Amino acid sequence: MTALLRQLSAAIAEDGPISVARYMALALGHPAHGYYMTRDPLGRAGDFTTAPEISQMFGELIGLWCCDVWDRMGRPAPFVLAEQGPGRGTLMSDALRAARLVPDFLRAASVHLVETSPVLRQRQQSRLEGAGAPIRWHEELDGIPEGPAIILGNEFLDALPIRQFVRTETGWHERMVGLGPDGALAFGMAPDPEPRLAELPGRPGDLREFGAAATLVVRTVSERLVRCGGAALFVDYGTSEPRPGSTFQAVRGHRRADPLEAPGEVDLTAHVDLGAVSRQAVAAGASVHGPVPQGEFLGALGIRERASRLSKAAGGAEVAAALSRLTGQGEGEMGQLFQAIAISDPRITFLPGFPDSGKPVTRAAGPGDADLDPAREARAAC
Ligand code: SAH
Repeated sequence: MTALLRQLSAAIAEDGPISVARYMALALGHPAHGYYMTRDPLGRAGDFTTAPEISQMFGELIGLWCCDVWDRMGRPAPFVLAEQGPGRGTLMSDALRAARLVPDFLRAASVHLVETSPVLRQRQQSRLEGAGAPIRWHEELDGIPEGPAIILGNEFLDALPIRQFVRTETGWHERMVGLGPDGALAFGMAPDPEPRLAELPGRPGDLREFGAAATLVVRTVSERLVRCGGAALFVDYGTSEPRPGSTFQAVRGHRRADPLEAPGEVDLTAHVDLGAVSRQAVAAGASVHGPVPQGEFLGALGIRERASRLSKAAGGAEVAAALSRLTGQGEGEMGQLFQAIAISDPRITFLPGFPDSGKPVTRAAGPGDADLDPAREARAAC
């Protein structure tokens, strides 16, 4: 039994069930026992591997994307180059190396990393030593100074707490984590329906997810971009239409696990509702670019050309394997499963990598977008 499981079970026995959002926030971010707070989970020896860890090409192309975007912003100096949830710092390190091609960009950039994990901060610090730009760390996006910004997040939004609701004859009830008859953690639901979802259609047994904390992050980022200028890029697995059913999942040692089994010891994620991301951005007055599948995005940025150059210098087979893992559509490949979406100050009408960029988008609000008050829940979840 994990230390966190013991604590959670005792707290639930005393005070009653907690929401899925609170469970996820504690399992990942509990100051002493949270999954991210106690380890570096990335890489072959860890629980999962991410795009920047697969190949340097990912971070390099994003670095050049940033240089291009900075140019479209009118080359502001200074400007903020921020990353949320930077893991081992690999993406930022590869991006800054590629950006040496544009020395003015590097001279103007002040790098800000938003990271809650002390273990990963340490990793980022050693990876980014000598990166050629000043770097500061923050607990939250709000700590980053005002001004024009380029903001990145790879596999960040999927780690933020979600709320789930189950439909019954009486309405939508929040899905909770409580204790089963055997004393183990078990899903249940709140006794009363959520009044703010009364109008949301559904049949008994349906389950709906809301990325309460991701929505808040996107809203904050979008408002900032409208106010101060710039663009943000998020790459994550998700869909434009919310999927019916639960996408709340656990991974341990590169295999699926039970999300309630070992809180603090397994990675927990949920698919990102990209439709909700777009609507939040539009509601804040920002422009939305994409989503486009990761494979298409990297293809448009020139990953094949980069791969063939790199093959000459490094092992061809290794580069080819990384290329297909990042851009392919098969089992275990990320090209179609992961999506890139960008948000910008509306004065930026085109962003590289997004073929539809610049077309006006109007998106009607979806059920639950504003009603669920993500700010309140996210605060409560921490
Ligand atoms: N972007 C990296 C790591 C992805 S894992 C990569 O692609 O390799 C998720 C990252 O988000 C980790 O760095 C984790 O510590 C961080 N994280 C999770 N929740 C966070 C939060 N609420 N605020 C800031 N960072 C968070």
